[in-house]
This record gives sequence, C-alpha cells and structure tokens, in this order.
Amino acid sequence: MTALRVGVLALQGDVREHTRMLTGLGADVVPIRRPEELARVEGLVLPGGESSVIDKLSRAFGMREPLRAAIADGMPVLGTCAGLILLAERLVDGIEGQQTLGGLDVTVRRNAFGGQVESFETELDVPAVGGPPVRATFIRAPIVEEVGPAAEVIASLPDGRLVGVRQDAIIGLSFHPELDSETRFHELFLASVRDA
Ligand code: GLN
Repeated sequence: MTALRVGVLALQGDVREHTRMLTGLGADVVPIRRPEELARVEGLVLPGGESSVIDKLSRAFGMREPLRAAIADGMPVLGTCAGLILLAERLVDGIEGQQTLGGLDVTVRRNAFGGQVESFETELDVPAVGGPPVRATFIRAPIVEEVGPAAEVIASLPDGRLVGVRQDAIIGLSFHPELDSETRFHELFLASVRDA
C-alpha cells in the first residue's frame, strides 16, 4: 500500500511532534507553508502553538484562502489546541482582529482555563477512538463553548466542559495527543484520509 501523503501546517507551533507521530504511523508527511504544498497533500494537521500568530502568518504567506478552500472542499483535518481555535466558525477571546479558518460549527473560547490552571493533564474517555482512557495534556487550552447541529462532541472533561469535536472529516481537540504518544486521534485522522 502506498503511504498517505499528509501535511502539517508549518507556520508556527508543535510541527515536529505531529510530524514524528504521523511518520511513525507510516504517513508521508510534508511541512506546509505555501499553496503549492497544500495542493499536493490529502489531509492536513493544524498544530498547537499560538493561534493568533498562525492566523497572521497564514495571511502573510497567502495561505488563508487556500486553507479555507481546502477545508470547505472536504479535506480531512486534525487540529489540536491552537489548531482547534483555527477550525472554529466562532471565536471568543481572540486578540483584536484575529480570524479563524472555520470548518467546525462550534464556538471556541481561547485561553479558557486562565490563571493558575494554565496547564494540566487528565484522563478522558473517548469512545470515538475506543480502548483505554486518553491521557490528555492541556496547555493554555481553549474549550468548546457551544456546538452547532453540524458538529458532534467526542470528548468532555468530568465537569462537562467540551474538549473534542468532530464534523465529517474534521477533528478538533483542546489537548495535545502529539505530546503524549497518544496515536489514536492521528490514526482516526489517517483513516479519514484513506476513506476520502
Ligand atoms: N493559547 C493558544 C492560542 O491561543 C493555544 C495553546 C496551545 O496550542 N497549546 O492559540
């Protein structure tokens, strides 16, 4: 079987961790900085990092419209943390002028944990990936505040806050499976790429 060719948006953020994980799962991984590179992949990861910086750089690099078009066209996408923010149709607490790409019919609040609990780890039950609980690391993480009819919740915290959503071939997570050797979300993403 030929390897799936997937991209990791490489403007800012934890590109290396996603690349390592996807390569380990047998994918052919391409860093994406230009529209021509995006045109050559079958799926895309939006990494964790700083969503306002990725937003600005995507516009400076002429990537905003190509990314929006690819997502609207049904390209499978996995977004973690800042990546989830970029995928939200509606954003609360962005910086002045911050834009998103859209794709997920949700409202996301940026830096939703704030203050002392900026970063933490926990375990989550995620039936969509099967198997034992997911070890989840949250770093200045966003939460999903509202879910529209097109999107489906796949992960929530014990207190009910929503931290994972899926809509067709798009997955958005508040946490960072790529930092925890948690491969199941990347496998789910690659399965969508294979099916697409
Ligand atoms: N707080 C970051 C943002 O606004 C997200 C943090 C992360 O990706 N770990 O994009």
